[in-house]
Amino acid sequence: MKGCIFCGIAEGERPARVCHEDEQCVAFHDIHPQAPVHILVVPRRHIASLNAARPEDEALLGHLVRVAAQLAGENGIAASGFRTVINTNAEAGQSVYHLHVHLLGGRRMRWPPG
Ligand code: 5GP
Ligand code: ZN
Repeated sequence: MKGCIFCGIAEGERPARVCHEDEQCVAFHDIHPQAPVHILVVPRRHIASLNAARPEDEALLGHLVRVAAQLAGENGIAASGFRTVINTNAEAGQSVYHLHVHLLGGRRMRWPPG
């Protein structure tokens, strides 16, 4: 989608530290990391948020979470632990309206999240 930051990264038009690419998604390091490992996994296709996901997107959503788990392994945080987060809309803190899974790890996480 024109003007979307994450579409730009997925299409290779905006720079990012990409760490995974496949037909359905792209993953890259967050520009303002909140943990020693902070990676964003985004679908190549523009979906604004989880609110806009359709029943036919179920396999894609599963793929994003599975890729996040794979990247946790590749980044050495699978055994120690990691968190996957999808923020949806303002009160959850969503700031980029292209659906993304945060992968966070490498430090102890608190619960409940702020
Ligand atoms: P949200 O707040 O929408 O859940 O998460 C958006 C995330 O995208 C934030 O953690 C923010 O740091 C990250 N981000 C925003 N713009 C860019 C960018 O241009 N490049 C990268 N790598 N991360 C970005
Ligand atoms: Zn987009």
